[in-house]
Amino acid sequence: GCGICIKKCPFGAIHIENLPEEVEEKLVHRYGENGFALYGLPIPKQGEVTGIIGRNGAGKSTSMKILVGLLKPNLGKEEATWDEILAKFKGTELFNYLKKLKDGKIKAAYKPQYVAQVTKVLKGEVGQLLKKADERGLFKDVVKELNLEHLLDRDVRKLSGGELQRFLIAAVIVKDADVYAFDEPTAYLDVKERMNAARAIRNLIPKSRYTLVIEHDLAVLDYVSDLVHIIYGVPGVYGIVSHPYGVRVGINHYIRGFLPAENMRIRDRPIVFKAPEARERVISTEKYLEWPELYKKLGSFELTVESGEAHRGEIVGILGPNGIGKTTFIKMLAGIIKPDKGELYTPQLKLAYKPQYVVPEMFKNFRTVRDVLRKVRRDFLDTSSWYYVEVIKRLGLNKMLDKEVKGLSGGELQKLAVAVALGMEADLYLFDEPSAFLDVEERLAVGNAIRHIVESQGVTAFVVDHDLVMMDLIADRVMVFRGEPGKRGHAHRPMSLREGMNLFLKDLGITFRRDADTGRPRVNKEGSKLDRMQKLSGEYYYTL
Ligand code: ADP
Ligand code: ADP
Ligand code: MG
Ligand code: MG
Repeated sequence: GCGICIKKCPFGAIHIENLPEEVEEKLVHRYGENGFALYGLPIPKQGEVTGIIGRNGAGKSTSMKILVGLLKPNLGKEEATWDEILAKFKGTELFNYLKKLKDGKIKAAYKPQYVAQVTKVLKGEVGQLLKKADERGLFKDVVKELNLEHLLDRDVRKLSGGELQRFLIAAVIVKDADVYAFDEPTAYLDVKERMNAARAIRNLIPKSRYTLVIEHDLAVLDYVSDLVHIIYGVPGVYGIVSHPYGVRVGINHYIRGFLPAENMRIRDRPIVFKAPEARERVISTEKYLEWPELYKKLGSFELTVESGEAHRGEIVGILGPNGIGKTTFIKMLAGIIKPDKGELYTPQLKLAYKPQYVVPEMFKNFRTVRDVLRKVRRDFLDTSSWYYVEVIKRLGLNKMLDKEVKGLSGGELQKLAVAVALGMEADLYLFDEPSAFLDVEERLAVGNAIRHIVESQGVTAFVVDHDLVMMDLIADRVMVFRGEPGKRGHAHRPMSLREGMNLFLKDLGITFRRDADTGRPRVNKEGSKLDRMQKLSGEYYYTL
């Protein structure tokens, strides 16, 4: 077997030794003798944005590194010559691109996935570095679009994750390149920043160039791309690049879990999007949790929270920009922060809490992932249990049970912390940014798991997240946080998804519609007929 799936792969992927001949022929790169193998490549198209979607470890970054010329494909051998590579792609759409790449005629501007590593080689101030990178006289535009004004004098090594991300996106856009490539541009960004980044990528890159974007946030991927490739297979073992699909259709196939052009099932079930009004579920009218008006001052930041309540069987989504008090409110619910005015008293409720920042010290009394999970649920390895099937396996924790907690990466820690919270039997579930670091598949799995728990146990969950597709999938009502980030935040009472999303999106000037086939939310292109109509009627969010 491939060493990961014994009989049937959890994602319905075919076995590596059973790869059909036509796939085997597409081997583009293999890391070492028994290393990860990539079959096929995404196809850059002039004047179009090519989106790439797939699980972590599917080969997305590898494929991008090849297309920007950072990694020379080896065709599964020790080394391949350019003649061999070109011969392999003869007669395909990629031939011309690769020929140009070989001849040094492709100048690439590339934002790598891991932004923190960039500061090891980059020194200086944001403004000065951006001016130096600016080959197209776009300095002012990117500074405005990516909200960098207040950061121009800042040393790049002092930027937060989100600030660094925005700076690097800007630094790529201002280049005069043939291919522009962005590997996970929305990590650390809030919704507004994500949409601004997507808009900048769509509007500020010259036409007739190649653009590639790897992205897990489906609303952003949908907005930014013209075409998408899905990379499927067994994460860490092999990845197969799908045909290019038009973005709407491609994401719909992805959501349904079936790729028709390759006749391939990539998931055992579709993901179902429904407006809260259309969901067949009963939310009790019993007030489960109630709070009066709250006030809290933290340094020079002030938060006011409108009085509100949550019911049994309900998921309350929390939306707002970075630095507006979302985490502060969650910590009040968790009893970690006491309000200065008003009381939020929940000691009678047993809590399950996934904090925003997960650190190994959270699990300091345990050695391995297995030790942590065993403490949460004795039956965590019972392969017939809901928890094993829907949480442990879908998050891939079954493959890292013997890893030491202190050696886990950020993404692995996040998965463990999410699984711990999902595994607890609690009365109140609090998830602060559960989708950070997770791939698109894991985000949807976590969303489904939260929904299952809340419905089957008749409890309540509060979920802070910047992924609007995930929010739409789970939230019954939402609390919108507005104000001035870092200075003052105001939390509105929980509203219906439609009302809350409307309030939130109006501030951003973005409208959403629902896809007719899958019900998933889609961002309207700015200035399109629908966009203008919905803005006129004040319907920023269609929940039909
Ligand atoms: P993705 O971006 O889809 O998460 P990557 O392209 O980064 O996936 O990696 C795909 C697989 O290849 C992973 O299993 C990763 O561990 C492996 N891999 C990536 N880079 C190397 C390398 N330089 N040497 C060996 N294996 C690698
Ligand atoms: P969000 O979760 O919406 O990004 P937070 O609730 O984490 O926002 O923080 C809101 C603001 O309060 C931020 O500007 C943050 O820097 C500030 N803040 C948070 N905790 C403290 C603290 N203990 N002392 C001073 N300021 C704080
Ligand atoms: Mg990657
Ligand atoms: Mg926060």
